[in-house]
This record gives sequence, C-alpha cells and structure tokens, in this order.
Amino acid sequence: MAFTQKPLPYDFGALESHGMSAQTFEFHYGKHHAAYVTNLNNLVKDTPLADKSLEEVIQESFKDSAKAGIFNNAAQVWNHSFFWESMTPSGGGGAPSGAIAAKIDSDLGGYEKFKEAFKAAAATQFGSGWAWLVLDNGTLKVTKTPNAENPLVHGQVPLLTLDVWEHAYYLDFQNKRPDFIQNYLDQLVNWEFANQNLAA
Ligand code: FE
Repeated sequence: MAFTQKPLPYDFGALESHGMSAQTFEFHYGKHHAAYVTNLNNLVKDTPLADKSLEEVIQESFKDSAKAGIFNNAAQVWNHSFFWESMTPSGGGGAPSGAIAAKIDSDLGGYEKFKEAFKAAAATQFGSGWAWLVLDNGTLKVTKTPNAENPLVHGQVPLLTLDVWEHAYYLDFQNKRPDFIQNYLDQLVNWEFANQNLAA
C-alpha cells in the first residue's frame, strides 16, 4: 500500500483572510507536502517499510542513520498533515478554551507565558524546523525540532505545531518569520485540535 497525502481539512483559500494565501497552499500543500509523499513511496518501494504505518516508518528510520532519507520524507509527510490540522479557518488563534487552557495555566504559567515561549521557540529554530506544543510525561512543554525531526521520536505527544521552514512563510511574509508566528498565534491556532489531542 502506497502512502497517500491526507486531504487538506479546508480549501486552499480558506485562510486567506487570516494571512495565509491560497498561493501558499498551492505550493506548500500542492508541491512541497506532495513531493515528500512521492519521495517516501519511491524510497520504501519493495522494502519491508512499504507495508508499515507512517508512524512505524518514522520510528524505525529515525534509529537507523542509513535510512535518513526515508526518515526525513516520512516525518515531513506526518508533520505537514499535523500542521494543516493545527490551523482552522473558523475562530482560530487567540486564547485557548477547555482543558488545554487549564493545563496551559497549570503547566506553563498561563497563556501569555505560553505565547512568549512559543514565539521564542519558533523564532530561534535556526534554519528549517518546527515549533511544537507537546505533552511530555503528562506535562505540557513548548519545544522546537530541526528539519524533519518531530516529538514522536522523543516519546512525546504532539498537540500543535508550526512549520518554520522558509517555504511556509516566504510568499505571505517574505523574510519576516516573527510576523508569521504572531499571525499564527493571533488568527490560526486550532485549539479544538489541541484539545482533541490532549484528550486522546
Ligand atoms: Fe513545510
């Protein structure tokens, strides 16, 4: 069974009034994310990994430096699908509600502290990578990972992510990564998705 690209949970233009253009999705979903799926299928073709789940491929290839290419593509397939879900066209961004809000208060010292930590993680990831809100042994943490690496390989539970590869923001924000991060926090974060991940 070949790996497939999960459908985008909204239209290409759905986040346009929230700072992320249809053109960004044409390239980011339509070209970058799609290419990781194609590359992964080519790399695992006729190997035992072709019949594993995406998560299994990520875990197994991470431990084997000879499989770095497979890891990079598999993790990028997973990370992007998780990123699309981390954003919503309706009521995204701003302060959280529900269980995640209470947990941010107790574990991270409140929403303002969370925002500062998330902005710092996303802005200081040198070069390409990802910023995350994760559950680590039951406690919330804000983290960052380089390139394709993700929290799954560190035994953490991802709750939200932001892609800080330059391809994620260059069309809409050019070199201004801090503006892209602020826009995500203010207008795009899907707290309902974070609550679902926390509950699961
Ligand atoms: Fe990306």
